[in-house]
Amino acid sequence: MLSCGCWIHGEEKSGGKRYPLTDPATAEVFGQGVDADAKLVDEAVESAREGFNGWRMLPVARRAELLHALARRICREVEEMADLLRQEVGKPLKAARDEVLKTATHLDYFAEESRRQEGRIPLLGNPREQVLIVREPVGVVAAITPYNYPLSTLACKLAPALAVGCSVVAKPDEHTPLSTVRLARLASEEGFPPGVFNVITGFGPGAGRLLVNHPLPRLVTFTGSTETGKEILAVCSKYVRKAVMELGGNCPAIICADAPWRDILPQVVLQSLKNSGQYCYRIGRLYVAEEIADAFLGELTRHLGRLRMGPPGAEDTDLGPLNHQEALFKVRAQVAEALSQGARLEYRSDLPGSCARGFYHPVTVLSGVTPEMSIFHQEVFGPVLSVVSFKDVPEAIRSANSTSFGLAAYLFSGNLANALDWAGQIEAGSVWINRIHQAYQEAPFGGMKESGLGREKSRYGLEEYTELKTLYVSY
Ligand code: NAD
Repeated sequence: MLSCGCWIHGEEKSGGKRYPLTDPATAEVFGQGVDADAKLVDEAVESAREGFNGWRMLPVARRAELLHALARRICREVEEMADLLRQEVGKPLKAARDEVLKTATHLDYFAEESRRQEGRIPLLGNPREQVLIVREPVGVVAAITPYNYPLSTLACKLAPALAVGCSVVAKPDEHTPLSTVRLARLASEEGFPPGVFNVITGFGPGAGRLLVNHPLPRLVTFTGSTETGKEILAVCSKYVRKAVMELGGNCPAIICADAPWRDILPQVVLQSLKNSGQYCYRIGRLYVAEEIADAFLGELTRHLGRLRMGPPGAEDTDLGPLNHQEALFKVRAQVAEALSQGARLEYRSDLPGSCARGFYHPVTVLSGVTPEMSIFHQEVFGPVLSVVSFKDVPEAIRSANSTSFGLAAYLFSGNLANALDWAGQIEAGSVWINRIHQAYQEAPFGGMKESGLGREKSRYGLEEYTELKTLYVSY
């Protein structure tokens, strides 16, 4: 049985109520987590307050050195860390290794980016006076993460926060505490001082709410659902506290008739079904030009038929289970409702025998989805694609914009000049044109509208963890 407690001031602490951890691939209990109580949460936040004082005073080069050391350690332990993700997330091993290595990349990137932070001195020309504009770390950061990418979503918060001199109390999702606590242990072993990186584990309405309602954190950085994000923002407003919100998505892809659609189909499939659809940037709504819609659907279902759904431990598995039973039931209910509202079922994969016991959802394609249907406006966190055909691109853009989300969008057109004009009209934090690829460390990442506030990655993501201070110096 695997188990973990909270990680506070460089030690693992138990306390709080124990709860079972369930294997997504088999629905069997494989371990135990701890729902931190108010005493543990308070201890963790106090530890972070104490840790902050020393950490912020270290030279930036020393903090960078420690972040690089942690990155190297993770790379050495990629198999062990990937196996934890396989177990607690249900993530196929190939994808789990990618996530671990991506985590190391975030640590390395922010270690270097923090060394490029600069202040400013405006040339005011006043005699015997200088105005210095400097950046300071905000203080204690509460970092709350979801179950789909426990390590890489955390790294987007932890790395910039630690790099600029903040201390962190992380709160992983209740289903996936093991990898986060393991990361904190590795950080301690690599020389991070006690109190700099703490972890409290447990449920959102338990440990999560206690952390957010604690008066001490100066910033809450959250990745999760829009609903929870709104609740957390309300608490932040009570304390006039900074917040970075990476929330839900329902991302459209628009495929014009003149796009080389047969070539791009594999990318579209990948971006729709990544992590079995448990991915905020996934394509949920596929807008396909009327002229090519039938041919596109035929080719799409042929591609989908080649994907292998199976146990996450098998090296050739493309798609694993959903993370937990409620997630599975929610996706099933969304599909059932769409069908009852008039959507057509174009494709549903057969589940192999190896998927009989876990939380697997078949790959599903719906067509005839309209704005009158609930599914059009919802994020579906599973392997379900809604296909919508369109007559002209401006109409598709209006429709794509007509949900409350604004995380990302994808546009494929044979005419780049048109595509650039259209991209300007799309309400989303990121738009990919004519190719879907990984987001880069150097580029900001985040959503508009109800998909989020603030940005992660890049120097903009680093600056979120700082406050500007102005020093008026007379001499
Ligand atoms: P969720 O909001 O239910 O949970 C996310 C985290 O918040 C968990 O750690 C949970 O324990 C905690 N939590 C829940 N209620 C809380 C509360 N009242 N106070 C404090 N903490 C609380 O989200 P989920 O459904 O588990 O995760 C999937 C969601 O995450 C999707 O909507 C997805 O789009 C989003 N997501 C967004 C991004 C992004 O970059 N925008 C990335 C990954 C996931």
